[in-house]
Amino acid sequence: MPHRVVVVGAGFGGLEVVKGLAGAAVSITFVDRRNHHLFQPLLYQVATASLATSEIAWPIRSLVWNRPEVTTILANVTGVDAERRLVLLEGGETVPYDSLVLATGARHAYFGHDEWERYALGLKTLEDATTIRRRILVAFERAERETDPEKQAALLTFVIVGAGPTGVELAGTIAELARDTLPRDFRNIDTGRARVVLIEAGPRVLGGFPDDLSEYALRSLRKLGIEVELGRAVSNCTADSVTYGDVRLATKTIIWAAGVRASPAAEWLGAPADKAGRLQVMPDLTVPGHPEIFAIGDTVTVSGPNGKPAPGIAPAAKQQGQHVAATIKARLRDNAAPRPFHYRHQGSLAQIGKRRAVIDFGWIRLRGALAWWLWGIAHIYFLIGSRARLSVAINWLWIHARNQRGARLITQGEARIDAIGVMAGEEAKSAQPALAAGATPVPSGRQ
Ligand SMILES: Cc1cc2nc3c(=O)[nH]c(=O)nc-3n(C[C@H](O)[C@H](O)[C@H](O)COP(=O)(O)OP(=O)(O)OC[C@H]3O[C@@H](n4cnc5c(N)ncnc54)[C@H](O)[C@@H]3O)c2cc1C
Repeated sequence: MPHRVVVVGAGFGGLEVVKGLAGAAVSITFVDRRNHHLFQPLLYQVATASLATSEIAWPIRSLVWNRPEVTTILANVTGVDAERRLVLLEGGETVPYDSLVLATGARHAYFGHDEWERYALGLKTLEDATTIRRRILVAFERAERETDPEKQAALLTFVIVGAGPTGVELAGTIAELARDTLPRDFRNIDTGRARVVLIEAGPRVLGGFPDDLSEYALRSLRKLGIEVELGRAVSNCTADSVTYGDVRLATKTIIWAAGVRASPAAEWLGAPADKAGRLQVMPDLTVPGHPEIFAIGDTVTVSGPNGKPAPGIAPAAKQQGQHVAATIKARLRDNAAPRPFHYRHQGSLAQIGKRRAVIDFGWIRLRGALAWWLWGIAHIYFLIGSRARLSVAINWLWIHARNQRGARLITQGEARIDAIGVMAGEEAKSAQPALAAGATPVPSGRQ
């Protein structure tokens, strides 16, 4: 019987493991609770009506159809029985393994205030993105009909909490949606008057970038008319307002881009974890005491040779996936001892609205239009397949030439138009994350 590898999570890390094991004498079971692989770096573009969901997500089965040794299972993993070498699925089924790879990622978290999740929407899944898109578009629709100026102002106030790359990208695109795309669609309101407020507890935007790029980003955001509040921690979120410092701002739309918490992989194994619930793996990415179990990506923390942990970003998850595949292959070939993982940082990128971006390659820093072009080319390159690449490129050209965003669709039911400000029914259910209990969130790896 071939060596049985079970890979849990078809994100950036898990997919890379499966790719890397091509040609090895293994049978692979690929488990995910969603049926698609998601390109999270462009999720904010779905949330802001720039791209459609199918342009940044691919059915997992379509990615491995030509790999007969790979069996795909759509299921929620609830635990691991490491003694009996079984992965436990919701519903009671089990999947046996010889080698196990946990690549279950992370999710947004609210610094001990999970009750805010009802009001402040996180962005991690396609459902999150379409929920945010619906909220934004419904806010404009309701403002168009609103006669009370105060209520109208609250509807036209969009607050983003957290000024890391995701918060900055969201703020820039919402501002452009309001100022460039929507004005001609509405009759009673001037959508260009919409307030976009970006709140950050730290002293600067894009805190993980060098000072000069962070300064440039701040200037660019302000040029776009975005109100940036620095050094202000949010102390409350409700259906009608957000409170930061001594300000209570009336708003119907709060988007949360401030913290992440790991999946419960460490809990499943009773393994050591850091304060954000990230499993502390050995230098070779195995779980302490279990050389047959690997854990990678956003759900782990692993220190580099300089003692600095690898960041929670896609290239780190991919490199770890490649490393694990190579380790499993080497073990099967000649029982080779595992090598430690070394992370190679390739650069940090963030877009700040149309034709503006910042890039820090370490050896060179870029900003402005050139950085924006490189940002665009890099993102198109990393999409899967020519159809998505072509479609995204055409969409972006269209947005830049005509300011049109074709994905301005309000989905998920007419009845919910009045539920704005509070996450309703299915929204709340789909947002319930399986998080490491009691863990403290940390700023996302992109901050
Ligand atoms: C909005 C946003 C923007 C980002 N932008 C960038 C960027 O520009 N550049 C960059 O480098 N990084 C970016 N990142 C970070 C990057 O997406 C992550 O670092 C990367 O996805 C981590 O890969 P992963 O394989 O660890 O987890 P993920 O890609 O999150 O995959 C985890 C997979 O596990 C599955 N799963 C989880 N729990 C279970 C379970 N219990 N049972 C079954 N399946 C399960 C999930 O459905 C998912 O498919 C961004 C993240 C977000 C949220």
